[in-house]
Amino acid sequence: MLNLENKVVVVTGGTRGIGFETVRAFYENGAKVILFGSKEESVDKALNELKREKKEVIGYYPNLTNYDDVSRVLKKIYDKYGHIDVLINNAGISAKERIENTTSEDFAKIMDLNVNAIFNTCKAVIPYMKENKGGVILNTSSMVSIYGQPSGIGYPSSKFAVNGFTKSLARELAPYNIRVNAVAPGIINTDMVASLSKEMIEPLIKTIPLGRIGTPRDIANAFLFLASDMASYITGVVLSVDGSARS
Ligand code: NAD
Repeated sequence: MLNLENKVVVVTGGTRGIGFETVRAFYENGAKVILFGSKEESVDKALNELKREKKEVIGYYPNLTNYDDVSRVLKKIYDKYGHIDVLINNAGISAKERIENTTSEDFAKIMDLNVNAIFNTCKAVIPYMKENKGGVILNTSSMVSIYGQPSGIGYPSSKFAVNGFTKSLARELAPYNIRVNAVAPGIINTDMVASLSKEMIEPLIKTIPLGRIGTPRDIANAFLFLASDMASYITGVVLSVDGSARS
């Protein structure tokens, strides 16, 4: 029903957390999946774990903030498979410091990975999708892109930018049958959340109407839907997957 069989799917930040579960979910639905990570060791670790699960996935570790490097690796993938159908821009870092403890370098670092890297992967993949007469680009936003957050200013700023990027690129690429959407996760049980203090997380959970934090599979399922033909008339949306959290 999802029609993802043999689709070539690239997932950035695919070595753990939401991205790793997304890799699994697409593989289970018949896609050919390529994961990107930040370094060789984490890519190897993820690929070995998938191998133990009898899932055949390949991986690379391009510097996402460098257009030439990203472009080189995406060309390699295109040359191998002849098409790239789905790009999932999921790699991201967060921040929690107050603005007085944040340097301009800290701020720039977040924008570089969470925003500029998405520009790089999209710019490099779009010619292949145009040639293929279609494709799907999915970005990982966050619920902080809707409500902001009381510290770590670079993180919500970057995710607001992701939403603007998504909506604008969707309009630019619609004539080419390339759909661009984002998923805005609420609080999801990954390393990123494990690094936050109990004092920060517990009051947040109390505000979630569905009464639990989300799982990486909750987000992977949203990506599956948005990548599938079932979402063929959906572009330019930021889909909240957050148990209706309002923080
Ligand atoms: P995570 O820290 O578990 O995983 C992050 C991934 O990004 C890893 O695969 C890592 O290799 C990759 N990455 C980090 N720095 C990188 C770099 N410099 N270059 C290339 N890759 C890099 O995080 P997660 O919680 O799975 O988050 C994934 C995405 O979901 C992020 O964009 C994050 O902002 C977003 N998100 C997470 C939550 C949450 O509650 N966990 C909520 C909202 C949005």
